[in-house]
Amino acid sequence: MSVLTARNLRRVYDVGKHQVRALDGVSLDVEEGEFIAVMGPSGSGKSTLLHLLGGLDQPSGGEIELAGEMVSLLSDHDATLLRRRNIGFVFQFYNLLPTLSAQENILLPLIIDGKKTKAYEEKLEDLLVRVGLTNRRNHRPSELSGGEQQRVSLARALITEPKLLLADEPTGNLDSKTGKQVMELLAECAKDLHQTIVMVTHDPKAAAHADRLIFLQDGKIQKEVSFLEGQSISSKARIILDSLESGE
Ligand code: ADP
Repeated sequence: MSVLTARNLRRVYDVGKHQVRALDGVSLDVEEGEFIAVMGPSGSGKSTLLHLLGGLDQPSGGEIELAGEMVSLLSDHDATLLRRRNIGFVFQFYNLLPTLSAQENILLPLIIDGKKTKAYEEKLEDLLVRVGLTNRRNHRPSELSGGEQQRVSLARALITEPKLLLADEPTGNLDSKTGKQVMELLAECAKDLHQTIVMVTHDPKAAAHADRLIFLQDGKIQKEVSFLEGQSISSKARIILDSLESGE
């Protein structure tokens, strides 16, 4: 089943007299449980694509279908609700509220959506175990390491059981060992929870945890690579490095 479909997505910026085609006709179909990594050089349109998919920016053209709904046919209010209920975000800089504990940060999306947190107690406990933060639940972000903060932000993104998780350089601010742990956690979520993930990264080691890679160049999909199930991370990383070097 398709969770997300993008058809001919375009985003053009007017810069003075010039037009910058940040995204130039990208089409994408993401199946439930798929883990996709979007790669490409700086300026190739990766952030633009993720922002359009997440509704943080509006396309100049094209269509997005999320959880069976054509987003452009909805009112702004309904589109916002659809995204709030179906998309979780993980960013490079965690974006946690400093005055709230880990647990309160995780529960925040429910409060924003007017939901009773009591109904989610079991889900909260499951997520705390999954991200390994049961003993850190009452700590504030400043009392947690970078990796722990990123795990809080992952649990926060998953508490509403979103159909789609969007991740923007989720390991960009972490050392390689901690980054690897966060990537293993994401891959586990895709496998065990059937969580659909679209992640932007420039790091081949991070991308090697995905099932499918999309390479962007000048706002277009230049190449796609699908990995076989059970393929080792190191062999996937080698394929990615070869693709990047050949620049095909
Ligand atoms: P990436 O994430 O791959 O580095 P971006 O999506 O940030 O690429 O940018 C794609 C292109 O769009 C770049 O050429 C960038 O300069 C341009 N761009 C991005 N945001 C803006 C903006 N707000 N105004 C003008 N140009 C922009």
